[in-house]
Amino acid sequence: MFIGGEWVAAHTEATTPVVSPFDGRKIADVARADREDTKRAIDAAREAFDRGPWPRMPPRARAEVYLKAAKLLGERATAIAELESRNQGKTIKQAADADIPFSIDNLVFYAGACRTLDAHSPQEFTGDGTTIFRREPVGVVASITPWNYPFMMAVWKLGPALVVGNTVVLKPASWTPLSTLELARAFHDAGLPAGALNVVIGPGEEAGNELCRNPKVDMVSLTGDTATGRKVMEAASGTVKRTQLELGGKAPFIVFADADVAAAVEGAMVGGFVNGGQDCTAATRLIIHASVKEKFLRHLLDRVHEVRLGDPLARSTDLGPLVHRSHQKKVLAAVEHGVSEGAKLRSGGTDGGPKLKDGAFVAPTILDAVAPDMDVAQKEVFGPVLDVMEFTTYDEAITIANGVEYGLAGSLWTNDLRTALKAAHALRFGDVWINDHLPLGSETPHGGFKQSGFGKDLGVDSLYDYTAVKNIYVDLTGVARKSWHYTVYGDPA
Ligand code: NAD
Repeated sequence: MFIGGEWVAAHTEATTPVVSPFDGRKIADVARADREDTKRAIDAAREAFDRGPWPRMPPRARAEVYLKAAKLLGERATAIAELESRNQGKTIKQAADADIPFSIDNLVFYAGACRTLDAHSPQEFTGDGTTIFRREPVGVVASITPWNYPFMMAVWKLGPALVVGNTVVLKPASWTPLSTLELARAFHDAGLPAGALNVVIGPGEEAGNELCRNPKVDMVSLTGDTATGRKVMEAASGTVKRTQLELGGKAPFIVFADADVAAAVEGAMVGGFVNGGQDCTAATRLIIHASVKEKFLRHLLDRVHEVRLGDPLARSTDLGPLVHRSHQKKVLAAVEHGVSEGAKLRSGGTDGGPKLKDGAFVAPTILDAVAPDMDVAQKEVFGPVLDVMEFTTYDEAITIANGVEYGLAGSLWTNDLRTALKAAHALRFGDVWINDHLPLGSETPHGGFKQSGFGKDLGVDSLYDYTAVKNIYVDLTGVARKSWHYTVYGDPA
């Protein structure tokens, strides 16, 4: 773990094995934090916020540390991408060409953005004094991240939090802590003051819960399951902490009758199978107009059969193992349950076959004839599993798309401008893509509606989540008895 600027073991010396989901072999042992270790990290962050240099440094100086860390990460990117692929199971081409370089660009963006942070202009709103607004850090922020994009989610959480002067305790998911430790190492090497960033690795119910309850923590930011979000809110309510929650998704993918079907099929392939479908924005609900459904499905199945499963570290692999054996079992059980509900299995629904038996593989899976109210269409499966549904009217498409508890992301496919904009307004999702699925930039605010949570990752909006506005009033009259005092006692002058 990384606490107070030092690499430390758990006070109990306990460790957790980290296992490769490709062959089940142990790749590391990491310290396992309990409540005591977590309290130590919180104390370090509290001290660094209350008395340390980081919150008191000008934005320019904080930006310099970020730019140095980004440079070091760039130099170490190949090794970090390999570590990420080995630990998480994602393909090396995704880790090396997308996740890691994108995350580094996120840090560069935050370095610049923190220097432009504004509050409102000071003015004499009452006539007798000047009101000055300051945008200040919230304090000690606990950042809790999931296992699907370990490095990128750590950057999305600590990136905006730290740059505005907060201090952070970051808790990665226990299955995938390795790249987060490399992120901390880069910040340390870049000169981040001790205690400004601390990393603890431990179970959610113990280390995570301590972060939510501890009175020395001012804010909790979670990316994770919606059920975890509810627990975090409940635990954080005891001390009325600010929360920021990026939770689950069940993205709709609407293909209207006039859409470019070939483009939509390509979109469904990348949107549905990105990161093995372990993506909160994954295009899991394909809602296709009846007039193009058969054509769409035929082309989709052709493409699905081309997907190459294998060693995630091989450049030619399109789909690596899922993150863990137990997750593989969960995904296969969800497919089986979907079939028992009446969905028709058109492809997949199996593991990776005899050659890949040691890995947590799930073959790309297409379920047809899915009804919108089936569990498989309502609950997050978080694997390479696409549900195909059919609609005939515009209203029906929107009703199906909006008919889930989630509201994170979705896309629609049409060449008609009016349909595109009308549907984009009607969809209750934080990201809506038109004729594509997935693109995000460092500048684009990303976050959910409904039970997908609240707050934003990325973009300038994320900096607002981690700052509080203070209002300071300075009297300009210099007189003892002000013109309004009579409203409390006495008479007007
Ligand atoms: P998870 O909710 O199981 O775990 C996320 C983190 O929360 C882990 O670090 C875990 O240890 C911790 N945690 C678990 N219980 C806790 C508790 N009671 N108190 C405090 N912390 C606790 O999620 P996961 O399975 O690691 O990741 C997948 C989930 O993340 C999916 O639901 C996915 O949709 C979501 N996700 C959302 C976004 C987004 O931007 N909205 C991005 C990525 C992933």
